[in-house]
Amino acid sequence: MSRVYNFSAGPAVLPEEVLREAAEEMLDYNGTGMSVMEMSHRSKAYKEIIETAEADLRELLGIPDNYKVLFLQGGASQQFAMIPMNLMKNGEADYIVTGQWAKKAYQEAQKYGKANKIASSEDKTFSYIPDVSDLPVSENADYVYICENNTIYGTKYQELPNTKGKILVSDVSSCFLSEPVDVTKYGVIYGGVQKNIGPAGVVIVIIREDLIMEDVLEGTPTMLKYKTHADAESLYNTPPAYGIYICGKVFKWLKRQGGLEAMKKYNERKAKILYDFLDESRLFKGTVEKKDRSLMNVPFITGDEELDAKFVKESQAAGLVNLKGHRTVGGMRASIYNAMPIEGVEALVAFMRKFEEENL
Ligand SMILES: *Cc1c(COP(=O)(O)O)cnc(C)c1O
Repeated sequence: MSRVYNFSAGPAVLPEEVLREAAEEMLDYNGTGMSVMEMSHRSKAYKEIIETAEADLRELLGIPDNYKVLFLQGGASQQFAMIPMNLMKNGEADYIVTGQWAKKAYQEAQKYGKANKIASSEDKTFSYIPDVSDLPVSENADYVYICENNTIYGTKYQELPNTKGKILVSDVSSCFLSEPVDVTKYGVIYGGVQKNIGPAGVVIVIIREDLIMEDVLEGTPTMLKYKTHADAESLYNTPPAYGIYICGKVFKWLKRQGGLEAMKKYNERKAKILYDFLDESRLFKGTVEKKDRSLMNVPFITGDEELDAKFVKESQAAGLVNLKGHRTVGGMRASIYNAMPIEGVEALVAFMRKFEEENL
């Protein structure tokens, strides 16, 4: 067996310790004589798994009691519809468009009400985060929507927008649990777990209780109401049971690493190695404004498409995989999520140095 350094944007690298534990428990979970995959979601053993997962997540993020934690399905993309369906009381919301995912959410919201694009960075291929300190927030807006870390472009909000009293809704798919967060600044925080937490198939929604209502957009399916899942503690129907179990193991792993403060420091150390190299390299360069750089997704180019393709091919052969940039932007992208060890980033930079020497 040999493991590679996997720089995929998602589904992405998971902690090896977690994978080993899951492997050990595959045939017999904790004396039950069955795999978690084979277990009733109403069983005592599973109840403990999901409750422990929620408790650990609450502890990691310091989630206040007046917020619900929901384990849902449908990917982050399903939230693009659920959010307006459940939260657009006035039929209006403001969107800040900083990449493809924010744009998709903005476009989806237009189906359910008036969605206003109050800022965008599309003019420069989403290579920066616009100034969000004094935006023309709409008087009637039910919420202001952001995508906090832009997975494809590699930018991240360093400061949250001034929403002028409106509720903030944030897609944190690709920066979930990468650093401490003040949950009270948000109405809704959500993300697909397949970027920085667990296997595809689970979406975590952290939502302030007063935003969960019966009275949502007419015709909203039962399964798309937050209230349905909140009332049933995420067990209205069969949840993505195995995925939640793995997420729970990752939460325990994060606690063993020292929690989110420690994770942030580690992520900063890792990203610095790569960004410092990009800033001094004569061949490679980063593609986004320095002040807005993401700690999680690092896009870079040589400026020559053929050389980029050669780099992707040779890095793959060297055990550094999935470095090809998103199909809409080209170049390269290294996703260096929580579970990417620092040795992986060091190996990448060593490889880049060697490639630079050979190709300049
Ligand atoms: C990947 C991603 C999505 C889409 O996630 P799905 O689970 O595939 O729907 C949405 N937002 C962000 C920020 C992402 O990185």
